[in-house]
Amino acid sequence: MRAVVFEGAGALALHELADPTPGPKDVVIEVAAVGICGTDTHVFDGEFEGTVFPLIPGHEASGTVVAVGSEVTTLAVGDHVAVNPSTTCGECEFCLNGKSNLCRHWNGLGVVASDGASAQFLKAPVANVFRLKPETDLFQAALIEPTACAIRAYDLLPRRMGEHYLIYGSGTMGLLMAQLAPRAGAASVTIVDLNDRRLDVAREVGIEYVHQSADDSERSEWDVVIDCTGVVAAIEDGLPRVKAGGTFQHFGVAPTDAKASYSPFRIYRDEINVVGTMAVLNSFGRAVEMFESGAINAGPMISHSFSLDDYASALEMFRKGTGRKLQIRPNDTESRVLQGSGA
Ligand SMILES: [Zn+2]
Ligand SMILES: [Zn+2]
Repeated sequence: MRAVVFEGAGALALHELADPTPGPKDVVIEVAAVGICGTDTHVFDGEFEGTVFPLIPGHEASGTVVAVGSEVTTLAVGDHVAVNPSTTCGECEFCLNGKSNLCRHWNGLGVVASDGASAQFLKAPVANVFRLKPETDLFQAALIEPTACAIRAYDLLPRRMGEHYLIYGSGTMGLLMAQLAPRAGAASVTIVDLNDRRLDVAREVGIEYVHQSADDSERSEWDVVIDCTGVVAAIEDGLPRVKAGGTFQHFGVAPTDAKASYSPFRIYRDEINVVGTMAVLNSFGRAVEMFESGAINAGPMISHSFSLDDYASALEMFRKGTGRKLQIRPNDTESRVLQGSGA
């Protein structure tokens, strides 16, 4: 099979490798699509904790089962599937206490030590593979993995019906969080992003209030403010806008050494909750359910698909932030513009 391989930090090559064969409890998937996200750039740059090179990248995958191991009974050849990339040790304190997303030996297909989906075929443990309905769009289904991260975030958010939500960042995660908010009970959803082109996507997927700055909103306080940027300026802008008794959530991944400032007095006086969220925890199956129930308007979110040959161009475009969600389609021979001009 053809595969993109990160040979070391900053070194990328296209290789011809042997097709994977399944172990007893594995399945092999012909990859339809795999999303590119910030994690891939961190892995490529050698900044992701624990990455072992060489590694085939790619952790937001969908595809079709083409082989199953001898002990696999729940999936069959021909099934359409989405893949949860997280694998955990099952033995550490966190795994043993139901917090396996915090596993100290967390592995992620395409992220740490196991190969990912930027190849024609992906081998995955059957426990990580979720069957889709045949009518579900298999390319769009690569958005189920980030949706599972969004559902984990909602699991951690103290919330009540009828609250007002403000979301920073109109990228993939902000758009997923914003689209799920009404399902989680939001009375209104506001999304802000400095980049007006990104706000176009928010308008297209149907977000109610869309602004370049929260100052442009008629509202001045929100019950729930969620940062999906990881940018310190956005965090410092958003936290003071949480209403007394409300919640601020850190969803965006800030640089590991970033520091943000806030008023501890305000957190105390107004009982502000500040909560984190990390990856996926028992939320992948529910992400499939929500995705297939139509909770996510995925079409406008995906702007470009790239063949394996153009993987480097995809990473470059991602870093420039000019497209929407970018995908690799390892079994497609051409790169395609799906939405917008990409300019
Ligand atoms: Zn990702
Ligand atoms: Zn563990």
